[in-house]
Amino acid sequence: MVTKNVPGYYFGSDSTARLSDIIKERLKNDDFAIFFVDIFFKGKDLINKLNLPNVEHLFYVDTVNEPTTDLVDEFVSIIREDKNILPSTVVGIGGGSSLDVAKAVSNLLTNGGKAEDYQGWDMLKKTGIYKIGVPTISGTGAESSRTCVMMNKKKKLKLGMNSKFTLFDCLILDPDLTKTVPREQYFYTGLDTYIHCIESLNGSFRHPMADSYSNEALRLSRGVFAGSDDMMSDLNREKLMVASYFGGTAIANSFVGIVHPLSAGLSVVLGLHHCIANCLVMNKMEEYYPQEHQEFQNFLLKNNIVLPQGITNGLSDELFNDLYDSTIIHEKPLTNALGKDFKKILSKEKVIEIFKQI
Ligand code: NAD
Ligand code: ZN
Repeated sequence: MVTKNVPGYYFGSDSTARLSDIIKERLKNDDFAIFFVDIFFKGKDLINKLNLPNVEHLFYVDTVNEPTTDLVDEFVSIIREDKNILPSTVVGIGGGSSLDVAKAVSNLLTNGGKAEDYQGWDMLKKTGIYKIGVPTISGTGAESSRTCVMMNKKKKLKLGMNSKFTLFDCLILDPDLTKTVPREQYFYTGLDTYIHCIESLNGSFRHPMADSYSNEALRLSRGVFAGSDDMMSDLNREKLMVASYFGGTAIANSFVGIVHPLSAGLSVVLGLHHCIANCLVMNKMEEYYPQEHQEFQNFLLKNNIVLPQGITNGLSDELFNDLYDSTIIHEKPLTNALGKDFKKILSKEKVIEIFKQI
């Protein structure tokens, strides 16, 4: 399988100022653009400052819950009902949630059907609408990965449209945009890159390209979270944006390990967001990733981050069973981390014991 990457990006402070011209160049005759913007920016200066064309087609993405297949279907039907032609450009401005919604809507507008029809690997048949991604928080790598993650509530499944067609066509990577991210959120999301990379570098399925991207992303992340400057200094926000981009690029040729499956359990069963769930699991990984677990403790201390505790206190046996089921279905990453007998090492008792400590 050929590996594709995002074909182009603008990088640097104030590069968002280019967005308006980039879109306008794409608009001919009746063409129009649609926007998916993180709800944080509602009523903020950014939108006016960007001087966007077609702001009448701007949708705010609520991030209280992570994106669902139903949400994506709803956006697509609004756009289809509103106009009888398709937009020429889809723009996502925000974190992993808003970027993923933009990617999914773009794919669905040309491929037809429902979002859930494409949850899986290489199910899309056609390229989507031209997509521009503008990340406003760094870490998930959603800006450079070939997937867009959605929760399917009916099927109790969290899975993306993994496809070369899901890649953005163009990115604007402007570290100025991450200045306003709350510190805890900056830490949790930033750590997604670190966790992905340590999981893939500790696994048995390896790829020299992915390893190189992961190693560089790790080097940058360590500088951000363990260096002498504040993790949110101008330079560190720039570094984390690059680390996130590399992390997302590595995802195409790598697998995660134990943290992401357990974290998916917390998201599916208890509705926890991806990045905080990762950190809660990483905090209990001394047995599986001892060195990295210690490093993670240092990151918490250095940046004054106190993780919430007692998340699973008082849960019923049924919910602990659900947590186990929604962890253990992730066979690929668990095999990557522990080999094909992973169920013997990560027994049901063991998984539940880890969850009980969270
Ligand atoms: P997010 O998009 O859910 O946003 C997190 C919070 O940060 C929200 O409250 C949001 O409003 C706020 N925020 C974002 N930018 C801000 C800014 N500049 N200033 C102030 N607040 C800001 O967070 P995320 O952690 O980036 O993304 C998580 C989502 O990404 C999950 O749905 C996860 O499944 C998905 N994900 C996708 C991929 C992929 O490759 N596509 C990879 C990992 C995770
Ligand atoms: Zn992740």
